[in-house]
Amino acid sequence: MHKLAAVVDRLSAFILDMDGVLYIGDTPIEGAAEAVERLRAMGKKLVFSTNNSAYTRSAYVRKLARMGIAARESEVVTSAHVTSLYLRRRAPRARIHVIGEPGLKQELRRAGLELLADDRAAEATHVVVGMDRTLNYERLTAGLRALLAGAELIATNVDGAYPTETGLCPGAGAMVGALTGASGKRPRVVIGKPSQHMIKFLLDLLGSMPSETAIVGDRLDTDVRAGKRAGLTTILVLSGVSTEGDVRRVRGTRMAPDFVIPNIKHLVVSR
Ligand SMILES: [Mg+2]
Repeated sequence: MHKLAAVVDRLSAFILDMDGVLYIGDTPIEGAAEAVERLRAMGKKLVFSTNNSAYTRSAYVRKLARMGIAARESEVVTSAHVTSLYLRRRAPRARIHVIGEPGLKQELRRAGLELLADDRAAEATHVVVGMDRTLNYERLTAGLRALLAGAELIATNVDGAYPTETGLCPGAGAMVGALTGASGKRPRVVIGKPSQHMIKFLLDLLGSMPSETAIVGDRLDTDVRAGKRAGLTTILVLSGVSTEGDVRRVRGTRMAPDFVIPNIKHLVVSR
């Protein structure tokens, strides 16, 4: 049996990154739905994870369904969701200035947290930052003033860019970078991969030990790095951000993925 197939057989749980693994933008990656179905048929526990903070979990359930992938909301984990749970636990009375899209705001509100209007940003205890495709100078100014008045900077993730049908686009890391550049303040905490906040949450949800769990992702700097730190089996797909050239650069280092496959289809066909 192929070595990867033997490992897939042995593992009981899979963390599937979504962007660049199951789809690019609104275009599904060929064979992704079949691969997910096959993993389910094999009795594997699955979670669908993304650093993208722009949408709610239910929006991801609908997006996956459009691509023929059935998933429950409880199987979807976004950095926005984990950020809201983190703040609810650590700072339930937080007054938050958000730089991010409606999905992030909705997750924070659902966790019972208070969001401030832009003109009250100086009262904020926390500035929570995710990707914001409508970010403008005023909103950035409000964020800067909140930070200068003492608010903590919380990053949903620091991905510099993410793949779309037309090429890479700036991610949350670009918004965090703008705020850090303006204020000199770095994030107090980063929630998304490679941070262990996200991985710990995913493992808890799966109820799995690292030794029986794999992470399947398209990025060396987030998915593979997070998996390596947590002691997971790491499987890199080349259908998203990281390239064969990137893989060559980490070969022989401790950041080298355990397996590299062209796309998720190859997770279950090579048997
Ligand atoms: Mg990805």
